[in-house]
Amino acid sequence: MTPDKRPPNLVIFVLDCVSAEALRARGAETAPAPAYDSFAAEGLSFRTAVTTAPWTIPAHASLFTGLYPWRHKTFNHGSPGLDSNIPTLAGLLRAAGYRSTCLSANPFVSPRTGLTSGFDDAVWSEWTHLYFRGIRNFHRYSPPSVGSGSPIGAEEPRRWRRFPRSIRRFAERYPPSWEIACRAAGKLLGPGDRSATGVASWIEPAFEEALRAGGRSAHPTFTFVNLLDAHEPYIGMDVHRSLYGEYLSMLGVRQDWVNWLRGRWAPNSRELRKLRTLYGFAITTVDRRLQRLLSIVRKMDLWEQTMIVITSDHGQCFTEGRQLFHSVGLDESVVKIPLAVKLPYGRLGKVRASGAASLVDILPSALLECGASPPSSVDGVTFDQLIDHDRVEPALVLGDGLSQIDSAHVTSRRREELDSLRVDAYSAYGRVGGRILAGDGEASYRRGSGPLTDEARIEKADENGGKLESTLDLISIQVKTAVNSVHQRIAGWGYD
Ligand SMILES: [Zn+2]
Repeated sequence: MTPDKRPPNLVIFVLDCVSAEALRARGAETAPAPAYDSFAAEGLSFRTAVTTAPWTIPAHASLFTGLYPWRHKTFNHGSPGLDSNIPTLAGLLRAAGYRSTCLSANPFVSPRTGLTSGFDDAVWSEWTHLYFRGIRNFHRYSPPSVGSGSPIGAEEPRRWRRFPRSIRRFAERYPPSWEIACRAAGKLLGPGDRSATGVASWIEPAFEEALRAGGRSAHPTFTFVNLLDAHEPYIGMDVHRSLYGEYLSMLGVRQDWVNWLRGRWAPNSRELRKLRTLYGFAITTVDRRLQRLLSIVRKMDLWEQTMIVITSDHGQCFTEGRQLFHSVGLDESVVKIPLAVKLPYGRLGKVRASGAASLVDILPSALLECGASPPSSVDGVTFDQLIDHDRVEPALVLGDGLSQIDSAHVTSRRREELDSLRVDAYSAYGRVGGRILAGDGEASYRRGSGPLTDEARIEKADENGGKLESTLDLISIQVKTAVNSVHQRIAGWGYD
Protein backbone atom coordinates (compact mmCIF):
# COMPACT_ATOMS: atom_id res chain seq x y z
CA MET A 1 0.00 0.00 0.00
CA THR A 2 1.30 3.44 -0.84
CA PRO A 3 1.71 5.41 2.44
CA ASP A 4 -0.06 8.58 1.25
CA LYS A 5 -3.08 6.71 -0.12
CA ARG A 6 -6.04 5.52 1.94
CA PRO A 7 -6.30 1.74 2.38
CA PRO A 8 -7.81 0.25 -0.76
CA ASN A 9 -11.20 -1.39 -0.91
CA LEU A 10 -11.13 -5.09 -1.75
CA VAL A 11 -13.62 -6.94 -3.96
CA ILE A 12 -13.38 -10.67 -4.71
CA PHE A 13 -15.64 -12.29 -7.30
CA VAL A 14 -15.88 -16.08 -7.41
CA LEU A 15 -17.46 -17.30 -10.65
CA ASP A 16 -18.62 -20.65 -9.29
CA CYS A 17 -18.00 -23.59 -11.69
CA VAL A 18 -16.27 -21.44 -14.33
CA SER A 19 -13.18 -23.29 -15.55
CA ALA A 20 -10.10 -21.54 -16.92
CA GLU A 21 -10.75 -23.23 -20.24
CA ALA A 22 -14.30 -21.89 -20.46
CA LEU A 23 -12.91 -18.34 -20.41
CA ARG A 24 -9.95 -19.00 -22.67
CA ALA A 25 -10.45 -17.73 -26.19
CA ARG A 26 -10.66 -20.77 -28.43
CA GLY A 27 -12.77 -19.35 -31.21
CA ALA A 28 -16.32 -20.43 -31.80
CA GLU A 29 -16.19 -23.33 -29.35
CA THR A 30 -15.92 -20.99 -26.36
CA ALA A 31 -18.58 -18.61 -25.20
CA PRO A 32 -17.41 -15.00 -25.47
CA ALA A 33 -16.60 -13.35 -22.14
CA PRO A 34 -15.66 -9.78 -23.10
CA ALA A 35 -15.94 -8.34 -19.59
CA TYR A 36 -13.55 -10.89 -18.13
CA ASP A 37 -11.20 -10.69 -21.13
CA SER A 38 -10.76 -6.93 -20.99
CA PHE A 39 -10.44 -6.98 -17.19
CA ALA A 40 -7.71 -9.67 -17.41
CA ALA A 41 -5.90 -7.88 -20.24
CA GLU A 42 -5.74 -4.59 -18.31
CA GLY A 43 -4.57 -6.01 -14.98
CA LEU A 44 -2.48 -8.84 -13.57
CA SER A 45 -3.53 -12.23 -14.89
CA PHE A 46 -2.16 -15.72 -14.48
CA ARG A 47 -1.46 -18.23 -17.21
CA THR A 48 -2.08 -21.02 -14.74
CA ALA A 49 -4.14 -20.93 -11.56
CA VAL A 50 -5.49 -23.90 -9.66
CA THR A 51 -8.05 -24.47 -6.97
CA THR A 52 -7.32 -26.49 -3.82
CA ALA A 53 -10.31 -28.86 -4.10
CA PRO A 54 -12.91 -29.74 -6.74
CA TRP A 55 -15.94 -28.45 -4.85
CA THR A 56 -17.24 -25.33 -3.20
CA ILE A 57 -16.72 -25.71 0.57
CA PRO A 58 -13.03 -26.66 0.81
CA ALA A 59 -12.11 -24.32 -2.05
CA HIS A 60 -13.79 -21.29 -0.43
CA ALA A 61 -12.29 -22.24 2.93
CA SER A 62 -8.84 -22.12 1.28
CA LEU A 63 -9.61 -18.78 -0.34
CA PHE A 64 -10.70 -17.30 2.99
CA THR A 65 -7.89 -18.78 5.13
CA GLY A 66 -4.90 -19.14 2.78
CA LEU A 67 -4.66 -22.76 3.96
CA TYR A 68 -4.88 -26.08 2.15
CA PRO A 69 -7.90 -28.27 2.95
CA TRP A 70 -5.96 -30.64 5.22
CA ARG A 71 -4.99 -27.61 7.31
CA HIS A 72 -8.34 -25.78 7.50
CA LYS A 73 -10.01 -29.22 7.91
CA THR A 74 -13.20 -28.24 6.14
CA PHE A 75 -13.64 -30.82 3.42
CA ASN A 76 -15.61 -33.90 4.41
CA HIS A 77 -19.28 -33.65 3.60
CA GLY A 78 -21.29 -33.33 6.77
CA SER A 79 -18.25 -32.33 8.78
CA PRO A 80 -18.43 -29.33 11.08
CA GLY A 81 -17.80 -26.08 9.27
CA LEU A 82 -14.74 -23.91 9.28
CA ASP A 83 -13.32 -23.61 12.80
CA SER A 84 -14.01 -20.07 14.00
CA ASN A 85 -10.56 -19.98 15.64
CA ILE A 86 -8.84 -20.05 12.24
CA PRO A 87 -8.05 -16.49 11.09
CA THR A 88 -9.94 -15.51 7.94
CA LEU A 89 -9.38 -12.78 5.39
CA ALA A 90 -12.51 -10.94 6.56
CA GLY A 91 -11.50 -11.23 10.23
CA LEU A 92 -7.93 -10.08 9.62
CA LEU A 93 -9.18 -7.12 7.58
CA ARG A 94 -11.67 -6.24 10.32
CA ALA A 95 -8.73 -5.94 12.70
CA ALA A 96 -7.22 -3.53 10.16
CA GLY A 97 -10.35 -1.35 10.21
CA TYR A 98 -12.28 -2.84 7.28
CA ARG A 99 -16.02 -3.53 7.03
CA SER A 100 -16.82 -6.71 5.15
CA THR A 101 -19.84 -8.13 3.35
CA CYS A 102 -20.32 -11.63 1.97
CA LEU A 103 -22.88 -11.90 -0.88
CA SER A 104 -23.22 -15.48 -2.02
CA ALA A 105 -25.58 -17.08 -4.50
CA ASN A 106 -24.11 -20.39 -3.31
CA PRO A 107 -25.72 -21.43 0.00
CA PHE A 108 -22.59 -23.36 0.96
CA VAL A 109 -21.01 -19.96 1.63
CA SER A 110 -23.12 -19.14 4.67
CA PRO A 111 -22.91 -19.33 8.47
CA ARG A 112 -23.98 -23.00 8.27
CA THR A 113 -20.54 -23.94 6.92
CA GLY A 114 -18.66 -21.36 8.98
CA LEU A 115 -17.41 -19.79 5.76
CA THR A 116 -18.79 -16.35 6.66
CA SER A 117 -16.58 -16.30 9.78
CA GLY A 118 -15.13 -12.80 10.22
CA PHE A 119 -17.60 -11.02 7.90
CA ASP A 120 -19.71 -8.18 9.30
CA ASP A 121 -22.66 -8.91 6.97
CA ALA A 122 -23.65 -11.99 5.02
CA VAL A 123 -26.46 -12.69 2.56
CA TRP A 124 -26.95 -15.94 0.67
CA SER A 125 -29.48 -17.83 -1.41
CA GLU A 126 -30.89 -21.32 -1.12
CA TRP A 127 -30.32 -24.10 -3.68
CA THR A 128 -33.91 -24.00 -4.83
CA HIS A 129 -33.33 -20.51 -6.19
CA LEU A 130 -31.67 -22.26 -9.12
CA TYR A 131 -35.04 -23.71 -10.06
CA PHE A 132 -37.14 -20.59 -9.62
CA ARG A 133 -35.07 -18.04 -11.50
CA GLY A 134 -37.68 -17.96 -14.23
CA ILE A 135 -40.17 -16.37 -11.86
CA ARG A 136 -39.34 -12.73 -11.60
CA ASN A 137 -39.51 -11.16 -8.17
CA PHE A 138 -39.50 -14.58 -6.53
CA HIS A 139 -36.41 -13.44 -4.69
CA ARG A 140 -36.69 -9.89 -3.60
CA TYR A 141 -33.59 -8.29 -2.27
CA SER A 142 -33.64 -7.06 1.29
CA PRO A 143 -30.67 -5.33 2.87
CA PRO A 144 -28.27 -7.62 4.70
CA SER A 145 -28.63 -7.81 8.42
CA VAL A 146 -25.63 -7.12 10.57
CA GLY A 147 -23.92 -10.02 12.24
CA SER A 148 -25.54 -13.37 11.71
CA GLY A 149 -26.77 -12.65 8.19
CA SER A 150 -30.12 -12.99 6.50
CA PRO A 151 -30.87 -16.06 4.43
CA ILE A 152 -32.63 -14.78 1.34
CA GLY A 153 -35.28 -17.31 0.41
CA ALA A 154 -35.10 -19.23 3.68
CA GLU A 155 -38.68 -20.30 3.07
CA GLU A 156 -37.81 -21.97 -0.21
CA PRO A 157 -37.05 -25.51 0.97
CA ARG A 158 -40.51 -25.69 2.55
CA ARG A 159 -42.15 -24.30 -0.56
CA TRP A 160 -40.19 -26.76 -2.70
CA ARG A 161 -41.11 -29.74 -0.53
CA ARG A 162 -44.78 -28.91 -0.98
CA PHE A 163 -44.42 -29.73 -4.68
CA PRO A 164 -45.31 -33.32 -5.59
CA ARG A 165 -42.24 -35.53 -5.78
CA SER A 166 -42.81 -36.27 -9.46
CA ILE A 167 -42.72 -32.56 -10.31
CA ARG A 168 -39.55 -32.04 -8.33
CA ARG A 169 -37.91 -34.97 -10.10
CA PHE A 170 -38.95 -33.62 -13.47
CA ALA A 171 -37.52 -30.18 -12.65
CA GLU A 172 -34.25 -31.69 -11.50
CA ARG A 173 -33.87 -33.80 -14.59
CA TYR A 174 -35.10 -31.37 -17.23
CA PRO A 175 -34.41 -27.86 -15.93
CA PRO A 176 -35.05 -25.95 -19.21
CA SER A 177 -38.54 -27.44 -19.53
CA TRP A 178 -39.19 -26.56 -15.91
CA GLU A 179 -38.06 -23.01 -16.60
CA ILE A 180 -40.69 -22.63 -19.35
CA ALA A 181 -43.32 -23.54 -16.77
CA CYS A 182 -41.80 -21.00 -14.36
CA ARG A 183 -41.86 -18.30 -17.02
CA ALA A 184 -45.53 -18.95 -17.64
CA ALA A 185 -46.22 -18.84 -13.91
CA GLY A 186 -44.15 -15.66 -13.65
CA LYS A 187 -46.27 -14.00 -16.33
CA LEU A 188 -49.43 -14.92 -14.44
CA LEU A 189 -47.98 -13.61 -11.19
CA GLY A 190 -47.16 -10.22 -12.63
CA PRO A 191 -44.61 -8.36 -14.67
CA GLY A 192 -41.93 -8.27 -11.97
CA ASP A 193 -38.48 -6.85 -12.38
CA ARG A 194 -37.36 -7.40 -15.96
CA SER A 195 -33.72 -6.87 -15.13
CA ALA A 196 -33.73 -9.87 -12.80
CA THR A 197 -32.47 -12.70 -14.94
CA GLY A 198 -29.63 -14.47 -13.17
CA VAL A 199 -29.32 -16.73 -10.17
CA ALA A 200 -29.67 -14.61 -7.02
CA SER A 201 -30.47 -11.41 -8.88
CA TRP A 202 -30.43 -9.57 -5.54
CA ILE A 203 -26.62 -9.55 -5.72
CA GLU A 204 -26.22 -6.43 -7.88
CA PRO A 205 -28.29 -4.10 -5.63
CA ALA A 206 -26.75 -5.67 -2.52
CA PHE A 207 -23.27 -5.12 -3.95
CA GLU A 208 -24.01 -1.47 -4.65
CA GLU A 209 -25.44 -1.02 -1.16
CA ALA A 210 -22.36 -2.63 0.45
CA LEU A 211 -20.04 -0.21 -1.36
CA ARG A 212 -22.29 2.71 -0.54
CA ALA A 213 -22.41 1.77 3.18
CA GLY A 214 -18.60 1.63 3.17
CA GLY A 215 -18.47 5.16 1.76
CA ARG A 216 -20.88 6.40 4.45
CA SER A 217 -18.90 4.84 7.28
CA ALA A 218 -15.49 5.98 5.99
CA HIS A 219 -14.19 2.45 6.57
CA PRO A 220 -12.43 0.67 3.72
CA THR A 221 -14.56 -2.27 2.58
CA PHE A 222 -14.08 -5.92 1.66
CA THR A 223 -16.93 -7.26 -0.46
CA PHE A 224 -17.07 -10.91 -1.50
CA VAL A 225 -19.42 -12.05 -4.26
CA ASN A 226 -20.17 -15.60 -5.42
CA LEU A 227 -22.03 -15.84 -8.76
CA LEU A 228 -23.66 -19.24 -9.28
CA ASP A 229 -25.06 -18.93 -12.82
CA ALA A 230 -22.56 -21.42 -14.31
CA HIS A 231 -23.50 -24.13 -11.77
CA GLU A 232 -25.79 -26.90 -12.95
CA PRO A 233 -28.76 -27.15 -13.52
CA TYR A 234 -28.46 -25.19 -16.76
CA ILE A 235 -31.39 -23.02 -17.66
CA GLY A 236 -31.56 -20.52 -20.50
CA MET A 237 -31.67 -16.84 -19.64
CA ASP A 238 -33.42 -13.82 -21.09
CA VAL A 239 -30.11 -12.56 -22.41
CA HIS A 240 -30.06 -15.36 -24.96
CA ARG A 241 -33.29 -14.45 -26.68
CA SER A 242 -31.50 -14.20 -30.02
CA LEU A 243 -30.63 -17.87 -29.62
CA TYR A 244 -34.09 -18.89 -28.51
CA GLY A 245 -34.56 -21.35 -31.36
CA GLU A 246 -31.39 -23.13 -30.34
CA TYR A 247 -32.42 -22.95 -26.71
CA LEU A 248 -35.77 -24.60 -27.39
CA SER A 249 -33.90 -27.61 -28.76
CA MET A 250 -32.31 -27.98 -25.32
CA LEU A 251 -35.58 -28.48 -23.48
CA GLY A 252 -35.28 -32.22 -23.28
CA VAL A 253 -31.63 -32.31 -22.24
CA ARG A 254 -31.37 -34.35 -19.10
CA GLN A 255 -29.08 -32.96 -16.35
CA ASP A 256 -29.35 -35.70 -13.82
CA TRP A 257 -26.20 -35.75 -11.72
CA VAL A 258 -27.79 -37.82 -8.96
CA ASN A 259 -28.63 -40.69 -11.29
CA TRP A 260 -25.25 -40.33 -13.01
CA LEU A 261 -23.64 -40.74 -9.61
CA ARG A 262 -25.76 -43.79 -8.94
CA GLY A 263 -24.71 -45.24 -12.28
CA ARG A 264 -28.27 -45.31 -13.62
CA TRP A 265 -27.82 -42.75 -16.37
CA ALA A 266 -25.08 -41.10 -18.46
CA PRO A 267 -25.44 -38.40 -21.13
CA ASN A 268 -24.92 -39.50 -24.74
CA SER A 269 -22.78 -37.48 -27.15
CA ARG A 270 -25.76 -35.42 -28.38
CA GLU A 271 -26.78 -34.57 -24.84
CA LEU A 272 -23.20 -33.69 -23.94
CA ARG A 273 -22.94 -31.30 -26.87
CA LYS A 274 -26.12 -29.57 -25.75
CA LEU A 275 -24.98 -29.48 -22.12
CA ARG A 276 -21.78 -27.76 -23.22
CA THR A 277 -23.83 -25.25 -25.21
CA LEU A 278 -25.97 -24.51 -22.17
CA TYR A 279 -22.79 -24.10 -20.11
CA GLY A 280 -21.61 -21.58 -22.72
CA PHE A 281 -24.88 -19.66 -22.34
CA ALA A 282 -24.31 -19.63 -18.59
CA ILE A 283 -20.75 -18.31 -19.01
CA THR A 284 -22.14 -15.44 -21.11
CA THR A 285 -24.66 -14.67 -18.37
CA VAL A 286 -21.94 -14.66 -15.70
CA ASP A 287 -19.82 -12.36 -17.84
CA ARG A 288 -22.68 -9.90 -18.35
CA ARG A 289 -23.32 -9.81 -14.63
CA LEU A 290 -19.61 -9.25 -14.05
CA GLN A 291 -19.79 -6.33 -16.44
CA ARG A 292 -22.68 -4.83 -14.45
CA LEU A 293 -20.89 -5.32 -11.13
CA LEU A 294 -17.64 -3.81 -12.38
CA SER A 295 -19.53 -0.83 -13.78
CA ILE A 296 -21.05 -0.25 -10.32
CA VAL A 297 -17.50 0.14 -8.94
CA ARG A 298 -16.68 2.60 -11.73
CA LYS A 299 -19.96 4.49 -11.37
CA MET A 300 -19.31 5.02 -7.66
CA ASP A 301 -15.88 6.40 -8.50
CA LEU A 302 -14.14 3.65 -6.51
CA TRP A 303 -12.23 2.02 -9.37
CA GLU A 304 -8.84 3.57 -8.69
CA GLN A 305 -8.74 2.72 -4.99
CA THR A 306 -10.17 -0.79 -5.22
CA MET A 307 -8.33 -4.10 -5.52
CA ILE A 308 -10.49 -6.48 -7.54
CA VAL A 309 -9.90 -10.23 -7.81
CA ILE A 310 -11.85 -12.38 -10.27
CA THR A 311 -11.47 -16.12 -9.90
CA SER A 312 -13.43 -19.34 -9.44
CA ASP A 313 -13.65 -22.07 -6.80
CA HIS A 314 -13.40 -24.92 -9.35
CA GLY A 315 -14.23 -25.65 -12.97
CA GLN A 316 -16.77 -27.95 -14.54
CA CYS A 317 -16.54 -31.30 -16.38
CA PHE A 318 -18.64 -32.75 -19.15
CA THR A 319 -17.30 -36.29 -18.84
CA GLU A 320 -13.65 -35.22 -19.15
CA GLY A 321 -11.81 -37.42 -16.68
CA ARG A 322 -15.00 -39.52 -16.69
CA GLN A 323 -16.74 -37.04 -14.44
CA LEU A 324 -19.95 -35.13 -14.81
CA PHE A 325 -20.05 -31.53 -13.51
CA HIS A 326 -17.66 -31.50 -10.52
CA SER A 327 -16.76 -32.68 -7.01
CA VAL A 328 -15.98 -36.38 -7.43
CA GLY A 329 -12.39 -36.18 -8.62
CA LEU A 330 -9.63 -34.12 -10.18
CA ASP A 331 -9.41 -33.30 -13.84
CA GLU A 332 -7.78 -30.26 -15.45
CA SER A 333 -11.18 -28.88 -16.41
CA VAL A 334 -12.10 -28.84 -12.71
CA VAL A 335 -8.69 -28.01 -11.22
CA LYS A 336 -7.69 -25.07 -13.45
CA ILE A 337 -9.45 -21.81 -12.63
CA PRO A 338 -9.32 -18.26 -13.98
CA LEU A 339 -7.44 -15.66 -11.93
CA ALA A 340 -7.21 -11.99 -12.85
CA VAL A 341 -6.48 -9.11 -10.50
CA LYS A 342 -6.72 -5.33 -10.63
CA LEU A 343 -4.39 -3.86 -8.05
CA PRO A 344 -5.28 -0.50 -6.53
CA TYR A 345 -3.80 2.81 -7.65
CA GLY A 346 -2.83 1.56 -11.08
CA ARG A 347 -0.15 -0.90 -9.97
CA LEU A 348 0.88 -3.80 -12.21
CA GLY A 349 -1.28 -3.17 -15.25
CA LYS A 350 -1.14 -5.43 -18.30
CA VAL A 351 1.03 -8.08 -16.63
CA ARG A 352 0.71 -11.79 -17.37
CA ALA A 353 2.35 -13.79 -14.59
CA SER A 354 4.25 -16.90 -15.57
CA GLY A 355 4.12 -18.63 -12.18
CA ALA A 356 1.24 -20.95 -11.31
CA ALA A 357 -1.07 -19.40 -8.71
CA SER A 358 -3.38 -21.10 -6.23
CA LEU A 359 -6.48 -20.03 -4.32
CA VAL A 360 -4.33 -20.00 -1.15
CA ASP A 361 -2.31 -17.09 -2.60
CA ILE A 362 -5.22 -14.64 -2.58
CA LEU A 363 -5.30 -14.06 1.21
CA PRO A 364 -1.62 -13.10 1.64
CA SER A 365 -1.66 -11.02 -1.56
CA ALA A 366 -4.81 -9.12 -0.57
CA LEU A 367 -3.62 -8.49 3.01
CA LEU A 368 -0.34 -7.13 1.73
CA GLU A 369 -2.16 -4.64 -0.54
CA CYS A 370 -4.48 -3.64 2.30
CA GLY A 371 -1.62 -2.90 4.66
CA ALA A 372 -2.21 -5.89 6.97
CA SER A 373 0.20 -8.70 7.72
CA PRO A 374 -0.67 -12.24 6.67
CA PRO A 375 -0.27 -14.87 9.40
CA SER A 376 3.07 -16.64 9.02
CA SER A 377 1.31 -20.00 8.92
CA VAL A 378 -0.49 -19.50 5.57
CA ASP A 379 0.24 -21.89 2.72
CA GLY A 380 0.01 -19.29 -0.03
CA VAL A 381 2.58 -16.92 -1.47
CA THR A 382 2.05 -13.34 -2.65
CA PHE A 383 1.31 -12.62 -6.30
CA ASP A 384 4.50 -10.61 -6.79
CA GLN A 385 6.53 -13.78 -6.20
CA LEU A 386 4.81 -15.40 -9.17
CA ILE A 387 5.16 -12.74 -11.83
CA ASP A 388 8.47 -13.89 -13.27
CA HIS A 389 9.06 -17.11 -11.36
CA ASP A 390 7.15 -20.27 -10.72
CA ARG A 391 6.28 -21.07 -7.14
CA VAL A 392 8.94 -22.95 -5.20
CA GLU A 393 6.47 -25.40 -3.63
CA PRO A 394 3.86 -27.08 -5.84
CA ALA A 395 0.25 -25.91 -5.81
CA LEU A 396 -1.67 -28.81 -4.34
CA VAL A 397 -5.24 -29.97 -4.78
CA LEU A 398 -7.10 -32.34 -2.53
CA GLY A 399 -9.62 -34.48 -4.39
CA ASP A 400 -11.61 -35.94 -1.55
CA GLY A 401 -13.76 -37.74 -4.05
CA LEU A 402 -16.70 -39.79 -2.94
CA SER A 403 -15.90 -39.27 0.71
CA GLN A 404 -17.64 -35.92 0.39
CA ILE A 405 -20.76 -37.28 -1.31
CA ASP A 406 -23.50 -37.69 1.23
CA SER A 407 -25.60 -40.27 -0.60
CA ALA A 408 -26.68 -43.61 0.76
CA HIS A 409 -28.07 -44.46 -2.68
CA VAL A 410 -24.72 -44.95 -4.34
CA THR A 411 -24.14 -48.67 -4.29
CA SER A 412 -20.82 -50.05 -3.14
CA ARG A 413 -20.35 -51.43 -6.65
CA ARG A 414 -20.82 -47.98 -8.18
CA ARG A 415 -18.47 -46.50 -5.59
CA GLU A 416 -15.85 -49.02 -6.66
CA GLU A 417 -16.55 -48.20 -10.27
CA LEU A 418 -16.13 -44.48 -9.67
CA ASP A 419 -13.07 -45.11 -7.54
CA SER A 420 -11.45 -46.95 -10.38
CA LEU A 421 -12.40 -44.27 -12.91
CA ARG A 422 -11.45 -41.13 -11.12
CA VAL A 423 -8.08 -40.12 -9.78
CA ASP A 424 -7.40 -41.38 -6.30
CA ALA A 425 -8.88 -39.86 -3.23
CA TYR A 426 -5.99 -37.57 -2.38
CA SER A 427 -3.97 -36.15 -5.19
CA ALA A 428 -1.41 -33.47 -5.61
CA TYR A 429 -1.29 -31.42 -8.72
CA GLY A 430 1.37 -29.01 -9.63
CA ARG A 431 4.78 -28.13 -10.87
CA VAL A 432 7.87 -28.05 -8.71
CA GLY A 433 10.35 -25.24 -9.15
CA GLY A 434 9.02 -24.40 -12.59
CA ARG A 435 10.00 -27.82 -13.89
CA ILE A 436 7.63 -29.98 -15.79
CA LEU A 437 7.52 -33.27 -13.97
CA ALA A 438 5.57 -35.35 -16.42
CA GLY A 439 2.83 -35.16 -18.94
CA ASP A 440 1.98 -32.08 -20.94
CA GLY A 441 2.71 -29.23 -18.60
CA GLU A 442 1.53 -30.35 -15.23
CA ALA A 443 1.15 -33.77 -13.76
CA SER A 444 -1.30 -35.42 -11.45
CA TYR A 445 0.18 -37.58 -8.73
CA ARG A 446 -1.90 -40.37 -7.44
CA ARG A 447 -1.65 -41.91 -4.09
CA GLY A 448 -2.67 -45.37 -3.07
CA SER A 449 -5.94 -46.96 -3.99
CA GLY A 450 -8.27 -45.21 -1.60
CA PRO A 451 -8.60 -42.49 0.96
CA LEU A 452 -6.28 -42.41 3.93
CA THR A 453 -4.08 -45.23 2.75
CA ASP A 454 -0.50 -45.43 3.95
CA GLU A 455 0.66 -47.31 0.89
CA ALA A 456 1.12 -44.21 -1.15
CA ARG A 457 3.19 -44.18 -4.26
CA ILE A 458 4.06 -41.69 -6.91
CA GLU A 459 3.05 -42.95 -10.30
CA LYS A 460 4.95 -40.39 -12.35
CA ALA A 461 8.01 -38.50 -11.25
CA ASP A 462 11.44 -37.34 -12.29
CA GLU A 463 14.31 -36.33 -10.06
CA ASN A 464 12.02 -33.84 -8.30
CA GLY A 465 9.63 -36.63 -7.44
CA GLY A 466 11.42 -37.38 -4.18
CA LYS A 467 10.71 -33.90 -2.91
CA LEU A 468 7.08 -34.10 -3.92
CA GLU A 469 6.77 -37.55 -2.43
CA SER A 470 7.89 -36.32 0.99
CA THR A 471 5.40 -33.44 0.69
CA LEU A 472 2.65 -35.93 -0.10
CA ASP A 473 3.66 -38.13 2.83
CA LEU A 474 3.26 -35.14 5.09
CA ILE A 475 -0.13 -34.31 3.57
CA SER A 476 -1.27 -37.90 4.01
CA ILE A 477 -0.56 -37.65 7.75
CA GLN A 478 -2.23 -34.23 7.97
CA VAL A 479 -5.32 -35.41 6.10
CA LYS A 480 -5.67 -38.36 8.44
CA THR A 481 -5.21 -36.14 11.48
CA ALA A 482 -7.78 -33.69 10.12
CA VAL A 483 -10.37 -36.42 9.59
CA ASN A 484 -9.73 -37.80 13.07
CA SER A 485 -10.17 -34.38 14.59
CA VAL A 486 -13.40 -33.88 12.63
CA HIS A 487 -14.71 -37.19 14.00
CA GLN A 488 -13.62 -36.29 17.53
CA ARG A 489 -15.38 -32.95 17.32
CA ILE A 490 -18.58 -34.57 16.11
CA ALA A 491 -18.36 -37.21 18.86
CA GLY A 492 -17.66 -34.47 21.40
CA TRP A 493 -21.00 -32.91 20.52
CA GLY A 494 -22.82 -36.14 21.30
CA TYR A 495 -23.15 -37.51 17.77
CA ASP A 496 -21.94 -40.89 16.58
ZN1 LIG B 1 -18.53 -24.29 -6.33
